[in-house]
Amino acid sequence: MQLHCIDCDSRYSISDFKYACSCGGLLEIEQDFKFLDSEYLKRKFEQRLSDRMTPYASGVWRYKELIFPELEDRFLITKNEGNTGLYDIERVNQYVGIKKIWLKSQSENPSGSFKDNGMVVAVSHGKSLGLDKFTCTSTGNTSSSLAMYSSLTNSQSYVFVPDKNISLNKVLQTISYGAKVIAFEGTYDQGIDFLEKYSGELGLYICNSINPFRIEGQKSIIYEIAQYLRWELPDWIVVPGGALSNVSALGKGLGDLYELGFINRLPRVAVVQAEGASPFHQMISKNKNELQPELQPKTVASALNIGNPPSWKKARNTLNATNGITVSVTDDEILNAKAVIDQSGIGCEPASASTVAGLKKLCESGQIHRDETAVCILTGNLLKDTEVLRQYHLECTENSLFANPLIKSKLNIESIKHL
Ligand SMILES: *Cc1c(COP(=O)(O)O)cnc(C)c1O
Ligand SMILES: [Zn+2]
Repeated sequence: MQLHCIDCDSRYSISDFKYACSCGGLLEIEQDFKFLDSEYLKRKFEQRLSDRMTPYASGVWRYKELIFPELEDRFLITKNEGNTGLYDIERVNQYVGIKKIWLKSQSENPSGSFKDNGMVVAVSHGKSLGLDKFTCTSTGNTSSSLAMYSSLTNSQSYVFVPDKNISLNKVLQTISYGAKVIAFEGTYDQGIDFLEKYSGELGLYICNSINPFRIEGQKSIIYEIAQYLRWELPDWIVVPGGALSNVSALGKGLGDLYELGFINRLPRVAVVQAEGASPFHQMISKNKNELQPELQPKTVASALNIGNPPSWKKARNTLNATNGITVSVTDDEILNAKAVIDQSGIGCEPASASTVAGLKKLCESGQIHRDETAVCILTGNLLKDTEVLRQYHLECTENSLFANPLIKSKLNIESIKHL
């Protein structure tokens, strides 16, 4: 296991852990799977499904050999993350108009989003280095997840949030877990710069998505989908794109499965961005080589409200490796797809629903055929953003196609009978 710079190809030993190459490039973890026995591993992954009381009951550590083989068992922390449902819902199929969709409900994770899959590995790594102060810059699910795992391991988390456009549910969740939340004047990008510069001096371990262990952990999402489908993946994997760590991990995980012979065909990846925060989609659709940051990102999907996604080069590698595509969707398309997902009993936050909205759009434009199959990754929980729910259902403008407003009624049988 070593660190590899995706820009200049430099390599570093894992014991010289750092967050960026000296050239400034992003680092990824490079593993050597040459000596792994795929059949043995497959059996092992199956056996661990019946394990409930060891760290291997985790939907992340089940795949430890592919994620962090060198970590000693005594450093494995877990809150039974992963193990999330994969649902085949007729109503959502019909809404999109495609042969078959599975919804991978990452909102069933312990802190309510897929960030737990990666965070558990980053915090375990930090603990193995003897650190017990963890940090990130985020207004959302990354901070909730970090706060949860820090408290679980008697460590302190320090979460830096820009003092504007904070999503209240997520910040309250983070505060509740016991993080020290520092609201600062400035942007998300300035927060990251600050941490990169001073985390060493402050003794803080950075858990933003530039941390390559987060990506290793997030690979488990596609491993789990593949295992649940008996190592036969559908034609498409559809994923929302914010900071682009999820799609980067997806591509890396697919590469692992293919290299190990667990799957013999790579699915194609579709990345969905919100129209008001779609610099990656703009770059790909205009065939540009450099990402042009969106200076004023704006979307109802707070988890996608990122104008300068740090992992865009890794995400581009995923598209290249899987013949992938991108698409953008409007806020109304996101909210209406979300209402369909919620009303089918699965539920998710707005960012997650962009996948179903994007898949529908791609089917309508013919870029995805109606006789193909897809998995949409639903990244976060329905209760992560209650303000959006209040506006959609209770204020219900004409764009809220599936609003389900409160019914005001007298408690008498004649009125209730006609509901
Ligand atoms: C973080 C997050 C995203 C975006 O994922 P990236 O890895 O930043 O692209 C999407 N949805 C939810 C719910 C998230 O928490
Ligand atoms: Zn480099």
